[in-house]
Order: sequence, then C-alpha cells, then structure tokens
Amino acid sequence: MAWDFSTNPESQTQLDRMDDVVREEISPLATPDLDREPIALAGTAEQTERRRPRRRRRPAAGVLVVLLCAWALPACGSGAPDQATQEPAVPSQATAAAAPAPQPRGRLAPRATTNHFDGARAFALLRAQVEDYGWRPAGSAPLRRLALRLRALLPRGRFENVPGHPGLRNIVGSVPGRMPAIVVAAHYDVEAVPAGFVGANDGAAGTAAVVTLARAFDRARRPPDARALRFVLFDGEEEPAGCEPFAECGLRGSKAYAKRHAGETRALVLLDYIAERRGLSFPREGGSDAELWGKLRSAARAVGVGRLFPNRTSGAILDDHTPFRQRGVPAIDVIDFDYPQRDTLADNMSAVAQRSIDAVGEAVHRLVTRLRAGR
Ligand SMILES: [Zn+2]
Repeated sequence: MAWDFSTNPESQTQLDRMDDVVREEISPLATPDLDREPIALAGTAEQTERRRPRRRRRPAAGVLVVLLCAWALPACGSGAPDQATQEPAVPSQATAAAAPAPQPRGRLAPRATTNHFDGARAFALLRAQVEDYGWRPAGSAPLRRLALRLRALLPRGRFENVPGHPGLRNIVGSVPGRMPAIVVAAHYDVEAVPAGFVGANDGAAGTAAVVTLARAFDRARRPPDARALRFVLFDGEEEPAGCEPFAECGLRGSKAYAKRHAGETRALVLLDYIAERRGLSFPREGGSDAELWGKLRSAARAVGVGRLFPNRTSGAILDDHTPFRQRGVPAIDVIDFDYPQRDTLADNMSAVAQRSIDAVGEAVHRLVTRLRAGR
C-alpha cells in the first residue's frame, strides 16, 4: 500500500513522517534484540516504588541496586542496600540513568481482558507464513502453496480467480447468515521488491488474524438473524516489480472482489500492519469510515485495549479497502503505517509480537460480534 496523496491536503506532514521512517530504517540500531525486553528492570523498580513505597524490594531489584551502587554511585557506600529500602526513588533513577540497555521504541501492546481470539494460534500462523514459505510475492510458487494451506484453514474456504491476472487467487471463507455480509480481510501476498522480503507484519499478520477470526466465528454460537461473515485473503495487493503507479498496479485481488461483491458487502474491516512488536498504534486512517471506526474504538475499549486507538486521524492510504470505498461500501483500514521496518527485509519475526496481534484480534472480534448482530 502507499500514501494516498490525492485525498490528503496535508501531504507535507506525510512526507515528514516518511523522512522519519527512512531515518529510522537506515539506523543499524533500529532493531535491538527486543525479545529481552531491556526496560523490564527499570519498570520493575518503578512499579515497586509506586505500589510499595516503603517496603523491602523484590530480591532481583535489590541485587541490581547493590551492583549499581558498586560501580555507578560511590555515594551509596556500604550502607547501600538499607538505603535502597528506605529511599527507593534514588536507586530507581540511578537504574534509568546508568543502564546500558538500548532503548526500544514504544511500549508493548496492552493485554486484552477477553479471550475470544486465539493469539497463540494466530502468531503461530504468522510465523508459519514467514518461516515455511519465505519470500512469497503474488504468482510465486511459495504463495500458491501457502494458498492451499490457507484455504484449508478457512471455514468453507474456496478460491476466486482475479480476472485479468492469471495465477492470482483470492481466498474466501464464510460463515452463513443474513446478507449483505460483513467482510474481514487482509492480503496474503508480499512485496516483490526487495528480493527475500518475508512480510511478517505486512502480509502475514493480517492474514493470520483473518484466519483466526474466521475459525473463532465458525465455532461460536450464531445469534438468530446474524449477518453473514466473509473472511477474504486478497492476492496481488502489492505491485509487481517495476510497475507504477501503485494505484493501477497493486490492489489486484481487492479490486476484483469489490467489483464482484460490493453489492453484497455491508462493511469491510481490513487488517494490515497489526502486529508491530512495540509502539503499536492505530490513528484512524484518513480514508476509513468515521462511524465504523468509532465502533472499532469502542470495541477496543470494551476489551481493554483502547489505548491502541488514539483519537486522531492519519493521512489516507491506498490499500485493499480503497476499491470498496470507491463503491460506497463503509470500510476501515486497521493499519499502523508508522512502522520503521516497512517495505524492508527487517519486516521479519523480530519486529512482531503475539501480544500485538492478540490485542487487535480481540478488538476486531468484538467489533464483528456487534456488526453481525446489526448493532
Ligand atoms: Zn500490507
């Protein structure tokens, strides 16, 4: 997908943000070993301070304080441990100042308070796409193999050809109900350029979430008069190598699906870039339907992840929801486009987290539950 400058009066803001992204991408420090969560020690000290201001620290923090005092705070002297229990604020600040750990950008996603979405299973499917299939642009042999697996995972899964693009196939799962249907979608192809791009966040994450949601709704009790659900994985979202502009070369699967099914689509919820490990945040994408977005925000609050959906709007983005918008279907693009690894080989497993995909999955599960009940 790409910024949609045609509908965006504040394109300079977008260009500035793109500059930021480029700056971060070329920095070799942009991808620290986030698995180790290096700010955990500082966080522990602060929590201890807030919850138990005058009590003894947990052993690990106490040991840390001793170590810090030994080499960083000569004034601590031999009385350091006792002093630490009396005055927790001092060693806590010292921890933050002296710790050599790299500063990761942003926080981890909040933990959802519901468990309708199987985050572990979704993350395993994300990983399987990346690790079992690797670079898998539209039309490639690995993507065609992946498509067979995805079709088998989707309830009532079937292929739909993409007219004019031989070899490309959308994959459609469904849960029966009243028409027109609620559609939850993502693209399952990845960038053709750069070679070797695996798209953990851009491609695999949305795909994994759509499949996981489909399976959850297929198993769940269906309320009377519920709307039909469609779970659609678009092929050919990314443009072929060397083809421009994006608006004409990309979005191949979604254009085909919208052309054929817009009339039977009540609303579209598109998932893209939803698993960024840290700093996950979804301002309303400028082209997303405001009313539907409001429902997503209240769904997110209801499951405890409202913080991920701040009350502001970003520029419009050309993405698989665009062909639906153009046909008058209310559509939203759940996308965190402020992703330093975007369109680079660093969009790999180190850049994504189960917690992130789970938080979004729970919020979207809640939203779809409401939408299909007609509320
Ligand atoms: Zn994408």
